[in-house]
Amino acid sequence: MINQKHIKQSLELIKNAKHIVITSHKSPDGDSIGSSLSLHHFLSRMNINSTICHPDEMPYFLQWLNGASQILNFEQHKSEIVEHFKSADLIFCLDYNDPSRVGMLEKFLTESSAKKIMIDHHQNPNTDFFDIIFSDPNNSSTSQLIYEFIEALNKTDLIDENVGTPMYCGIMTDTGSFRFPSTTAKTHLIIAELINKGINNSIIHEKVFDTNTISKLKLTGYALSKKLTLIENNTVGYIALTKEELNQFKYKKGDTEGLVNQILSINGIKLACFLKEENGIIKMSFRAKGDTYVNTLAQKQFFGGGHIYAAGGKYEGSIEDAISKFVTIVGNYV
Ligand code: 5GP
Ligand code: MN
Repeated sequence: MINQKHIKQSLELIKNAKHIVITSHKSPDGDSIGSSLSLHHFLSRMNINSTICHPDEMPYFLQWLNGASQILNFEQHKSEIVEHFKSADLIFCLDYNDPSRVGMLEKFLTESSAKKIMIDHHQNPNTDFFDIIFSDPNNSSTSQLIYEFIEALNKTDLIDENVGTPMYCGIMTDTGSFRFPSTTAKTHLIIAELINKGINNSIIHEKVFDTNTISKLKLTGYALSKKLTLIENNTVGYIALTKEELNQFKYKKGDTEGLVNQILSINGIKLACFLKEENGIIKMSFRAKGDTYVNTLAQKQFFGGGHIYAAGGKYEGSIEDAISKFVTIVGNYV
């Protein structure tokens, strides 16, 4: 949570820092990109430079955000990122709470002597690793926490379109467009404040959600009509897509985003799972609602973690074996 002593310490670190790096988790989503850009633009408004260094590339539906093209990702800017980590004296760690979540950046993050400020809303933070921790698992998003961080600094007057647009985007995507139980009155008050400041909410929805390509829609149609399986008395649904199937529909990063939520929209479904074959591993996404939770399932069974209603993990082996394991154990979690 936002604690005034930590705010004071953070402000000191920010003011004294010569080289600030902003990091976030692997497979960036609206909240990791949103919180990173929002903080970056906010620091700029304080006349402070920062560089965003992420493990991998962002999905195409976020690339329109102002500043997105300056984000360095390790897949394309390896040596630059190594240099930034070498000279960093302050690192922001956004939307993750353990160094194991930053993929290829883990080595540089753990070897860096820079002070580390974590701002995050996942459960069970690794409290030994970071110097200052702002952790609020009940918060809708890290982007909302960035607002609360700025508010605690008494600097909301610095929130302009550049700061507010990615912030709105992160809150919107992590709350499923303001519908998940993590959406509170405070969330809506912050959104109202952002709209008052001139952020164009309708355009943001359009730019993020109305960017489907025909092949993405066809992939979604194929997945729902041919690959959806319901088990456990129709309370659990899953879809698994192989590499061949993804290639068949010219899969691009982000094309299966939201598919798992569509499974959850079926009346009576409590738990949904999407399995995707990637290079050598099976990436799994879990969603749940009501009295069913998926964070423990992801953590205990599939080397992952996340939130109670949205979590992810992986399986090392074939997609058939991943499905088989999921089907065998899922009954214990609904
Ligand atoms: P998604 O299914 O959208 O990839 O992820 C849903 C949530 O689970 C996100 O909040 C994400 O941070 C978390 N998550 C996804 N994959 C992993 C993982 O491998 N490990 C952990 N700890 N969390 C994950
Ligand atoms: Mn998040």
